Amino acid sequence: MDTCIFCKIVSGEIKGDVVYRDENITAFRDLHPVAPTHILIVPNRHIESVSKLEPADATLMGQLLLTARKLAEEAGIAESGFRLISNTGKDGGQTVFHLHIHLIGGQGMKHPMG
Ligand code: AMP
Repeated sequence: MDTCIFCKIVSGEIKGDVVYRDENITAFRDLHPVAPTHILIVPNRHIESVSKLEPADATLMGQLLLTARKLAEEAGIAESGFRLISNTGKDGGQTVFHLHIHLIGGQGMKHPMG
């Protein structure tokens, strides 16, 4: 996708603070972190959101979760805990329409359900 900011970070066209990269996945620090650890984990291939996933994407989604676990371990928050979020669509608060998982941790967080 020519105009997608996360595609541009994946391709290296714009610089991101990349912490992990392989043939399917890129992870980089969020520009506006809400906690001491705030990393975005994205598929290299453009997928708009969780709403657009196909059955064939099951392995890729598993890889995204395993990458989240690995990065949480590296950040030292695997034991203290962390939150994974994938905002989806307008009502879900999604602002960048390239599927991503937020890995957030390093501080206590209020329960999202209140
Ligand atoms: P969401 O609102 O769930 O779609 O999340 C999009 C996230 O992308 C926000 O937390 C932004 O701070 C973050 N973001 C936007 N542009 C960039 C960028 N160029 N590099 C890193 N993070 C970004």
